[in-house]
Amino acid sequence: MTKIYRVNARMKTIAQEELKEKYLLLGGRSLISKVLTNEVDPTCDPLGAGNKLIFCTSLLAGTNVLAAHRLSVGGKSPLTGGIKESNSGGTAATYLARHNIKAIIFEDLPESDDWHLLRIGQDGKPELIPASEYAGLNNYVLVEKLKGRYGKAISIISIGKAGEMQYGNSALHNLDFSTGYPVRANARGGMGAVLGSKKIKAIVIERSPKAHEFQYADKERYEAARKKFFDVAINNEGMSWLREIGTPALVDVTGSTAIMPFRNFSGGFNDSLDSISAEKFLSKIKAGGGKIGEPCQAGCAIHCSSSFNDDSGEYLTAGLEYETIALCGSNCAVADLDIIARIDRLCDELGLDTIETGTTIAVCMEAGKIPWGDGEAAIGLIKEMEAGTEFGRILGQGTLAAGEALGVKRVPVVKGQAISGYDPRNLKGTGVTFATSPMGADHTAGLTLEASLDPLDPAGQADVSSMLQPVIAAADSLMCMFAWFSAASPETIPELMAGIYGGEWDFDKVIDIGRQSVLREKAFNTAAGFKPEDDRLPKFFAVEKAPATGAVFDVNPTELDGVLNY
Ligand code: SF4
Repeated sequence: MTKIYRVNARMKTIAQEELKEKYLLLGGRSLISKVLTNEVDPTCDPLGAGNKLIFCTSLLAGTNVLAAHRLSVGGKSPLTGGIKESNSGGTAATYLARHNIKAIIFEDLPESDDWHLLRIGQDGKPELIPASEYAGLNNYVLVEKLKGRYGKAISIISIGKAGEMQYGNSALHNLDFSTGYPVRANARGGMGAVLGSKKIKAIVIERSPKAHEFQYADKERYEAARKKFFDVAINNEGMSWLREIGTPALVDVTGSTAIMPFRNFSGGFNDSLDSISAEKFLSKIKAGGGKIGEPCQAGCAIHCSSSFNDDSGEYLTAGLEYETIALCGSNCAVADLDIIARIDRLCDELGLDTIETGTTIAVCMEAGKIPWGDGEAAIGLIKEMEAGTEFGRILGQGTLAAGEALGVKRVPVVKGQAISGYDPRNLKGTGVTFATSPMGADHTAGLTLEASLDPLDPAGQADVSSMLQPVIAAADSLMCMFAWFSAASPETIPELMAGIYGGEWDFDKVIDIGRQSVLREKAFNTAAGFKPEDDRLPKFFAVEKAPATGAVFDVNPTELDGVLNY
């Protein structure tokens, strides 16, 4: 039986359900949108009793498809006030799938301030355990203590101090397969705060001694499709940068075109690009004895992750991604990978989203609160968030809150969520995605870097984004997006689905999983009170010419209103 556990934070009860048949062809983002639209009042307080926090695995989790084990987390977002799904790699989805657990749903609010953790035992049985002794711990120390108590054969999903303080900028972290550290983040939308509101510090999943055996509709067909998918993915020359360097390779592409944000989305070229380039990143990893080409989850041969050591060779952080370098580095004019790596580590410790954190710091720099490029001062702001000072608590609520408190006019957010590492004037299709995604500004909802259109020409960008968004939502429902982009096609994905789930599949049927999800998400947001004018970028992108290109964001609002109207 494929299980769902419902954890009531008030009653301290856990109910077990069988995954409903109508949910069988849903997973990750699509399952989250279904459960939320069925069960949560869109007008509820995100940190109140009416909101639910859903953890679930991707549709292909539990199979041995390349990079299949993805963990999605979703609920109504305290950052955007709309629906939110955020996904990550790591070990948690693998461990849940071994127990044949599809989802864990946290409901209601506790009546006391006591903290608990949810433990899934080796036998798959769940229990709530008092955990107030762990309150106030950040993720690395917490993980060490939990490993000391429950052994090393566990996965952990946890919040640090940011989630405990219910910051709008608070993430959930789970363990990296290669390093064992809490660096794989469900970062966006403040989902850590929702778990914090329910006073759950962590989920500990003990490893089932025996993996649940996935029931394939047609094992032979599946095996042939799995092998083909794997071969296409690891031989895809167009994605070799990902296998050889990881996402920091994008710095060279976006930096040389002024797509990478610089000085709070000024639209100019970063004049210190060499200090954060892919070459510099590789040489720093080599000099410190770190590693390139590590898998974040079992069964991934793409290996896009890495670990980063400090100058003395001591481990500092892992999974340092392009977005962190772009937002906490370039966007703050911080031109030092060691400092960016320290910021990344701090964000993993506290449980912060590095994208939201980098834009918040840049807004503080724009306000003159700290100087541009001052990495130590940037770290000081994160320490304020950790200490929970009056200003730190404002910063913890995210970029919009910081901008309002400081009277900054150029605040790069959509629906209250920070724009990620692409200036929308210089990559207009992604600007459309930022404006129109039900998730708030989020590059993963439809990044158009690979689109054949001129990124500076507004024509056709709305159509590209509208076409891409359901594709990404389908990917977010099945597997790691990088595996999808390495190998998904009408020749591979439908065969995989037919081998696993049976029936006849074509590519559009797979994409329709994403399309229906996006439509549900949009309906949720409309019911929550969102209007067409919420599907817009901040005004400064339309009136300020980007110095590097002379471009403004000039996609017609009527075209924006037409996106996602299927
Ligand atoms: S491609 Fe990268 S992010 Fe995706 S599963 Fe593999 S290592 Fe993780």
